Amino acid sequence: MRTLRAYRPGRTVADVVAQRGLEQAVKLSSNESAFGPLPAVLEAIDAACRDIARYPDPTCRDLRTKLAGQIGVSIGSIFVGPGSAAVLTQLSLAALESGDRVLVPWPSFELYPILADLAGAGFVPVPLVDHTCDLTAIDVTDNVRMVIVANPNNPTSTVIPVAEIEGLLNRTGPSTLVVIDEAYADFNVAQPESGLPRLVDRYPNLVVLRTFSKLHGLASLRIGYCVASPMVIELMNRVPPPFAVNGLALAAASASLDQAPELDRRRRATALQRDRLVAGSRSLGWPVPDAGGNFVWLPCSDPLALSEGLERLGIIARALDGGLRVTVGTPDENDAFLTALTAVTAIIRPEGESTCPNP
Ligand code: PMP
Repeated sequence: MRTLRAYRPGRTVADVVAQRGLEQAVKLSSNESAFGPLPAVLEAIDAACRDIARYPDPTCRDLRTKLAGQIGVSIGSIFVGPGSAAVLTQLSLAALESGDRVLVPWPSFELYPILADLAGAGFVPVPLVDHTCDLTAIDVTDNVRMVIVANPNNPTSTVIPVAEIEGLLNRTGPSTLVVIDEAYADFNVAQPESGLPRLVDRYPNLVVLRTFSKLHGLASLRIGYCVASPMVIELMNRVPPPFAVNGLALAAASASLDQAPELDRRRRATALQRDRLVAGSRSLGWPVPDAGGNFVWLPCSDPLALSEGLERLGIIARALDGGLRVTVGTPDENDAFLTALTAVTAIIRPEGESTCPNP
């Protein structure tokens, strides 16, 4: 049997409520949308329910056509899968071989090293500097088959300027895939559309990952996509399973793409709440870096103690190496978090020098 690292999902409300003997708990641990489904999306799902006895379109043609039109690329440059995690898994299975190396600014999304392991490739973490990825520190040598950069990064929520990514692309040879995971780019109000997908003609080794799980609020339906050169997409299409994307997800994603004004409102509302969490946590002394995703990062040396303290007060956040990741919730949930953090900070003091302007 092979030994593989396990992916650790966030804890559920039911688990925490039962374990802690609480009446209720607030889940801020999985970077989900704080908003419910869009009404137009629910209608589209309802209509699509009538067809569930049939297999869905395995080529996802209608959704790819719509995405291609909105993004400004050819339909042959788009691959749709059951969540962007699955899209990246399919890409890794298609592209990685035993002995390859996968470079990742680290810490980042837990799935990346698991995919390297799965392919028998070596995982090469490149340490973040000030919680941010320093792309100039990435040395792309010949046997680096893939570089994966989450932008904004999970878990630190920090953002890399697009110009730095273009710099990386310019000094990377064609045999190295540069995967930019834009799962949270929708929440970067300053520049929600990076424009990177339109560069796949110029850089045939560029792959841009996106998801409907975050801003679009479709996490449970499982749908995401990538934009890449048709050659890469063709390779990915050879990896099973077929019919991986279900018809309800296709209908919902397509309907959601028609809701730009409401999505924009949600993006701005999330960013406002996020900035409130950053400011509130900083005012308690936590050295929180500027955040671009729908979550914030509290660096600390004992994240388990911090999450334990918050969980006792009914707040579920995510303890990871080097800090605690907290998803932006509804205004009430964020109030509850800040109240709990104030109580816990009285016991667990933020240590070290604060890098924030308002410690
Ligand atoms: N990329 C990043 C950086 C993520 O944090 C996540 C989910 N937490 C994903 C991809 C996967 O999202 P999904 O499979 O739901 O599209």
